[in-house]
Amino acid sequence: MESLPVSSKLHSGYHHPLSRIWQSDRRVNKSTFIYPVFVSDLDRDETAIKSMPNVYRRSVPETIVHIAELVKIGLRSTIIFGVPLHPGAKDERGSAADDVQGPVIRLIHALREQFPDLFIVVDVCLCEYTNHGHCGVLNQDGTLNNATSVARIADVALAYAEAGAHCVAPSDMNDGRILAIKRKLISAGIEHRVLVMSYSAKFSGCLYGPFRNAACSTPSFGDRRSYQLPPAGRALAWRAVARDVAEGADVIMVKPAGSYLDIISDARKSHHLPIAAYQVSGEYSMIHAAAAAGVFDLKSMAFESVEAILRAGATIVISYFTPDFLMWLDEPVSKL
Ligand SMILES: [Zn+2]
Repeated sequence: MESLPVSSKLHSGYHHPLSRIWQSDRRVNKSTFIYPVFVSDLDRDETAIKSMPNVYRRSVPETIVHIAELVKIGLRSTIIFGVPLHPGAKDERGSAADDVQGPVIRLIHALREQFPDLFIVVDVCLCEYTNHGHCGVLNQDGTLNNATSVARIADVALAYAEAGAHCVAPSDMNDGRILAIKRKLISAGIEHRVLVMSYSAKFSGCLYGPFRNAACSTPSFGDRRSYQLPPAGRALAWRAVARDVAEGADVIMVKPAGSYLDIISDARKSHHLPIAAYQVSGEYSMIHAAAAAGVFDLKSMAFESVEAILRAGATIVISYFTPDFLMWLDEPVSKL
């Protein structure tokens, strides 16, 4: 042991809880998180999502009560997903998406009024609102009509922005939608106050199952593999990210997060803008299931998963664990 050089002594750098925290380039804190909420068009609704422990679909009033509790303990941002449940609410072109009486626009107004410091992100897509469950307007043959879909998505984004959203986040993956949204915002004169977060590297796969239960957005036929990236498509993700940056995205997103750390790292190295990573429903539910089976401690694994996402290069983490982290991050540092 005596022959070891002094520089081999590494333990001194992380023997204390605080010095362990100093080893991370990006630290988990309350500003790291965006919390996803599912808001339905029912008058009263608080329905547990069976496949996602502690996650509920709520109507507008119940969502406001829930958000109020979280704002008290430090919630900084939420991302809203609308869930139309009324019979007849869905049609070919997803008309309910930007209905001013719909739950998303009503919730934006209410949150802006009641929580002035809360940063409001709204997911922009049509799949929750179309009767076919796909993320755009279809051609006769069932494929997505790019031009019509992009125009419709841009209109929906503008409606959310005009209602007061700080950020619109198109998740539809139609080619060219970032540019179309930016142009819409510029012609409305509000581009300076609306951030565009693009779901750029959104991979297809089986980790979205619980979300689709929550958002009731499973396609009625086919799947989304023709417009979501194949899981092995690293180069394709690089191109999608570069394209969205060139079209004016302010933030780009990688989704899912934990299985795509290399994609986060690629984006970090190639571009100078904030990177969001979506720890999706399947990742969340897997961690819960394994913890319930005694494989590991829930909190330790939740931290480990988010620290890995930040270490790979993410700035922002969209996670269903947000309410837990708001509490955990208030605990004494020795417990972290
Ligand atoms: Zn969609």
